[in-house]
Amino acid sequence: METRLGSPSRPARVAIIGAGPAGFYTAEALLRQKELTFAIDIFNRFPTPFGLVRDGVAPDHQSIKAVTRVYDRILEHPQVRYLGNVTFGVDVTHADLRPLYDQIVYAVGAQTDRRMNIPGEDLVGSYPATVFVGWYNGNPDCCTLQFDLTHQRAVVVGNGNVAMDVARILVTDPDELATTDIADYALEALRASQVREVVILGRRGPAQASFTNAELKEFGELRGVDVIVDPAELELDPESEASLAENKIAARNVEILRGFSQREPTGAPRRIVMRFLRSPAELIGDNGRVVAIKIERNVLVPDGKGGLRAKGTGEYEVIEAGLVLRSVGYRGMALPDVPFDEAASVIPNVAGRVTTLTGEVIPGEYAVGWIKRGPSGVIGTNKADAVATVASMVADLPQLEGIPDANRDPELVLELLRQRKPDFVLLEGWKTLDTHEVERGAAQGRPRVKVTSVEEMLEVIRKRRAQ
Ligand code: NAP
Repeated sequence: METRLGSPSRPARVAIIGAGPAGFYTAEALLRQKELTFAIDIFNRFPTPFGLVRDGVAPDHQSIKAVTRVYDRILEHPQVRYLGNVTFGVDVTHADLRPLYDQIVYAVGAQTDRRMNIPGEDLVGSYPATVFVGWYNGNPDCCTLQFDLTHQRAVVVGNGNVAMDVARILVTDPDELATTDIADYALEALRASQVREVVILGRRGPAQASFTNAELKEFGELRGVDVIVDPAELELDPESEASLAENKIAARNVEILRGFSQREPTGAPRRIVMRFLRSPAELIGDNGRVVAIKIERNVLVPDGKGGLRAKGTGEYEVIEAGLVLRSVGYRGMALPDVPFDEAASVIPNVAGRVTTLTGEVIPGEYAVGWIKRGPSGVIGTNKADAVATVASMVADLPQLEGIPDANRDPELVLELLRQRKPDFVLLEGWKTLDTHEVERGAAQGRPRVKVTSVEEMLEVIRKRRAQ
């Protein structure tokens, strides 16, 4: 019998840590290897899979969420097992898994947010946009949070697509959100919201914004919302103007923004105000709560790397606001017993191969997605990223010693989980929960009604199984 690692009689055992897009595209790329056989276990912290597709993509963007159909097929593959409700480093450690898998792939994404590092950032009423996103999407980590929406104005700091998402959700007619899978408690809070104006601050100019055309255009199509842009803030310096020739997305953004700036406000009940060349300088509080944000006007100066950066002019302005969401990027977090580059907030790697901080490759360990390259790109970007990591995994296989044959029994990890995390969730459990959510949604004409706490998820799985 053939004993080559990755042969049908000796499949390469792979643990993928994280069931988000990067994890699924890694599994897909492994299963596409015609000459090799892999036995893949996908571990996930929550009982529910799909990472940011479930907990990040905005509820009014259901067509993007449809990508989960591809992931569903991967989960059904006979060489793939789903092991949900298992936290790496808590329920199972690196030392537990290393002897059971020939290759481990970290696909954990970027679990926290970047900070603005300005005074007042931690006042009540100031939050990371990532947490607000988790809240309206029913992420179990955020489902008990409460946002004070009793003030007329909210400020969103940042010019990426997350800033666009949170601003849009704050002003969208709740009746429209009611047809989506937005968390029920968030819908209720948004129905009672007093927020009438959302100000979005870009520290650089319109030509440097990182949001994409579709997201910007969507602002102009929102019912009951005026989009206000001051034409003076769209005037471009010569370098920015020249950069548009090579950047079609930026050129189109500027064109769309110019269109907005020429519209007469209609007196609609809600408005989005887009400001450019404005940085947050300080959050001003009263009794520990945000009441205003002090912002500084910027000019653009060369950044020494061929681009332009924002430089403060010392000219300030104060905007009253009861809610400030900083949307200045996600940030990766270290996993226990896995190397971590603090400065870049990624797992150090060469072509997906995990290295020590001094650059030596750790055999059999890999990174993919945001924890490999940082929090950039859209869902599909992770496909090419996963293909690249899998190319390294495949190239390494002949040199890998592999785990001892005595450790190859796929039951071993299940035995370990039964001791450590008896309520771990297999594919059947997730499918039970999925059916429950979809059925609840169908009754209301919605794609699903989400269960938002882990306890309730486990309860639903137990109850429906017992029926
Ligand atoms: P992002 O695209 O990196 O945008 C971060 C924004 O924050 C930039 O405008 C950046 O400005 C600004 N910023 C950073 N530090 C700042 C500071 N100290 N003060 C003021 N502004 C600051 O990040 P993101 O919006 O979190 O999105 C993450 C990724 O997910 C992106 O690739 C995004 O496209 C993707 N995503 C896509 C969708 C979609 O396709 N619909 C939805 C959500 C997210 P500078 O440019 O000046 O640094």
